[in-house]
Parts: sequence; C-alpha cells; structure tokens
Amino acid sequence: MPPLHLLPAAESAERSALVDPYGRAITYLRLALTDLCNLRCTYCMPARGLPKLGHSALMRYEELNRLLAVLISAGIRKVRITGGEPFVRKGSMDFIRALPRRFPRLTSVNITTNGVDLAPRLGLLKKAGIHNLNISLDALDRELFHSITRRDQFVPVLETVRSALEMDFHVKINVVLMRGVNENQIPAFVDWARREKLTIRFIEQMPFNASGENDTFIPAREILQQLRREEPALSAIPGSATAALYSAPGFSGALGIIAAYTRTFCGSCDRLRLTPTGGLQTCLYAAPQLNVRDMMRAGATDGEILAAVKKLIARRGRDGFEAEKKNNGALPSMAQIGG
Ligand code: SAM
Ligand code: SF4
Repeated sequence: MPPLHLLPAAESAERSALVDPYGRAITYLRLALTDLCNLRCTYCMPARGLPKLGHSALMRYEELNRLLAVLISAGIRKVRITGGEPFVRKGSMDFIRALPRRFPRLTSVNITTNGVDLAPRLGLLKKAGIHNLNISLDALDRELFHSITRRDQFVPVLETVRSALEMDFHVKINVVLMRGVNENQIPAFVDWARREKLTIRFIEQMPFNASGENDTFIPAREILQQLRREEPALSAIPGSATAALYSAPGFSGALGIIAAYTRTFCGSCDRLRLTPTGGLQTCLYAAPQLNVRDMMRAGATDGEILAAVKKLIARRGRDGFEAEKKNNGALPSMAQIGG
C-alpha cells in the first residue's frame, strides 16, 4: 500500500497557510471532476440532465494536479473526488489512483460516487490505498430507487456496496431524505446499520437541483426524531463534525445526520470546493469567486494562484447563511458545484 500517512489533522491545521477570518484552517478540498452523470436524481438535476459543457471548459488533469500541488503546499491534507459522477469522466481512474503516490502529504483520498460504475474499479482503488467510499443510495427498494434516480440501477449499486464491504472499504451511505418520498425507508436503513459495519448518513435536502425547489425538505431535528422512533437507544457518538453520528447497543454500524440546509456545522467547516470548470468556492452556498482554470490558462504562476486563493479565503463569510445572502440566490445543480 502506498504511504498515506503523514500529519495528524490537528498538526496539519496548525500548519495550514489557508486560514479564514474566523480562524478556521482550510485543510480539505472537494474536487468535482465533471458535472455529467449517469443518473438523474430528482433532487439534483432535471430529467434531461444539464447543458453539456465543452471539453475545454473542464479543468484538465494536468491543471488539477498543478492546483493540488499548490494547495497541498499551503496545507490541504484531505481530498474528496466528487462530481457529477466522477467515473463517467474519461481518464478519471488514472487520475484518482495516482493521487496517493503523487501527493504523499495527503492524509486521505476519498470518493463520493453513485456506485453505478464502481464495481470493476474496487480492486484498483484498494491497491492504490484509497479506502473511503461514500456511496449515494436513497432507497433500499428497486422501484423507489428508480423513481428517485430516474434510472433502474438499484441492483448493481446494492451489489457493489456489498462487494465494497467484503473488501473492507470504509463505506458511508448517503441518503437524501425527502418528505413523502423515501421516509418510509428509514426502518430498512436503520436495520442495515444494525447488521453491517457501515455508516448511513441522512442528508437534509438542499435547493440545489437547478430549479430551486425544496418542497420535500425535512429538518435534521425531525430526522433524528424519526430515527429515534425506530431505535430509541440511539446515542450520539462524540467528536463528529459535519455529520452528527449516532449508534446504539448491538449496532455494527452507525447512523448520521448532515444538516446541510439548516447549516449547524459551519463553525468547524474546513472545506474548499473546486467546480468542474475551475471555480473555487469557500462554501456550498457561495458563488464561485475565483476561477483557477482561467488564471492558469492566462499564464499565472503558482505563487500568483496561491496568493489569489489566500485572498479568497480571507474574504470567507462566517457561515452558509451569510454566503447565500451574498450569492444573489443562484441555485445550480449539486452536480455543478460538486456535492
Ligand atoms: N454522483 C455522486 C453521488 O451521487 O454520490 C457524487 C456527486 S453528488 C452531487 C454528491 C452528494 O450530493 C450525493 O450524496 C448526493 O446525494 C448529494 N446531493 C445532491 N443533490 C443534493 C441536494 N439537492 N440536497 C442534498 N444533497 C444532495
Ligand atoms: Fe448524479 Fe450524484 Fe446528482 Fe444523483 S446526486 S444526479 S448521482 S451527481
């Protein structure tokens, strides 16, 4: 296994040159490789998909590697590859697999995927030292999965989750919980966490679906009530950050709630996001304020890029509400921001 060791989080935060006005060290980059996807989740994008970007609009792999080198030199220690669906981009596996060796100062390389094209890649990812997979699965029922994602891919995705668990990947399941849509799946999900060593995280729905609708949103506190109805002995696992985590006696796995819309975790947010077209965002709710693709193509040096990133972080708002206010209500698809 390649060396994926290095600085413990606290030490890396201390050394980060990327610190916002509220003292939060930015150590985590979420990198969206593409906005294309092989599913069409109703909460994320319209049935027809998103307008296709020209190939040259995307950050090239060389540009991504250059940006990573700059950001890692300044304190980024954790990377999550996301999208759109990362594996639909040609060449994504070669890029992802090379990351741990190319950047040994990274403490982890993680992937968020819908799992559709993951199965044949599991062995290679393991070999590359990539162990953390977040797999989105909003229902444990084939028809409901089909109606949410607009594609009939439930069986292969579930099989892939099972294979990943057998291969000892750290698997987190992401469930966007929606009123009247998949609430009835809670008992099956809770039971799954009871039996299997995985973490199932229920995400508050956000209005990032290219239409701005959020009618089926369920707040985190209500999600917790629903989970407790299913398992009254649930207790909080201390020390969790973005996701509030819970477990109960007899559970092999854990449950989590991500208050993505009510935004109760902004105080400890350590993230920077890169959109597929090179936009850097200091918050999910902020508009991309700096385009590193354009800077690179205009001939900027690494030093100039780093200076611009630092300036961006120095203007970071206190929380997602402040960022949203400045953003004039732009509500793209999550696939365009990199969820
Ligand atoms: N395609 C991959 C996937 O679905 O896992 C990666 C990209 S997707 C945009 C990343 C995460 O964002 C997924 O877990 C998805 O469920 C979540 N997501 C997408 N749209 C969302 C929304 N409107 N509200 C909350 N979460 C959303
Ligand atoms: Fe695709 Fe992921 Fe968006 Fe679903 S949530 S449409 S899988 S990018």
